[in-house]
Amino acid sequence: MRHVLSLSGGKDSAALAIYIRDRVPEMEYVFHDTDKELPETYDYLDRLAAILGKPIARTSPVDTFDHWLVVYGGMLPSNHRRWCTKMLKLKPFEKFVGEGPVINYVGLRADENRVGYISTKPNITAVYPFQDDGLVRADIIRILEDSGLGLPPYMEWGRSRSGCYFCFYQQKIEWVRLKERHPELYERAKKYEERSELYGEKFYWCQNESLAELEQPARMEEIRTNWIASQERNRTRRKNVPLVEILGGLEPEDDQHLRDGCLICSL
Ligand code: SF4
Repeated sequence: MRHVLSLSGGKDSAALAIYIRDRVPEMEYVFHDTDKELPETYDYLDRLAAILGKPIARTSPVDTFDHWLVVYGGMLPSNHRRWCTKMLKLKPFEKFVGEGPVINYVGLRADENRVGYISTKPNITAVYPFQDDGLVRADIIRILEDSGLGLPPYMEWGRSRSGCYFCFYQQKIEWVRLKERHPELYERAKKYEERSELYGEKFYWCQNESLAELEQPARMEEIRTNWIASQERNRTRRKNVPLVEILGGLEPEDDQHLRDGCLICSL
């Protein structure tokens, strides 16, 4: 029986790896590299591997994002056509797992209702240690702080999720921050939109607004202003935010947004 934990570069899977390290010494850690990840994610995984005292295997999809983009007719992935997760994360996971019996450790917390990736392969059994042990978000932040790893570094500049730099699950404020922090990655994401036109139809990462429109200074300022106002509203609504959440630098509403993404990409 193999024991496998997929790391996304996000905080929950990293915390689970640390939490379970001594209980399952034979654990295999794996990261499904899309080759479109944020540079901060690679650094975070390297530091995590040092704490775990074990290497983190990396899978690469047989064919790249650019290959699949052509196959899908230049249609950028979105919430309704999530071919990227299937081809760049799930398939490599199933290939890594193979045909033998495997226990797959998933970092879903006790305070979430999401359903994890349940493989249709009968040899994979998913288990949820945080849910079994009743661990919630504050516990996850404590595990990361106590280990010395801390939260993923992209959270420092206001990105809430791991995964591809162009992930369509980003909020508009995160696109603004990507433009400020990694302008070269923003440009690359913009090029994908421009090239989609060659296939006869324009596709945008944000659906209703192109990155060329979003990066206009007045529009970026508007997004910043709207975001600050929404944070104020949330703070007023929630007066009793636990100290650990404040120290963690993440408001619950930010985290809620992250809940909507793909587990294997952003957990
Ligand atoms: S991070 Fe986003 S864009 Fe990348 S594979 Fe996952 S869902 Fe797709």
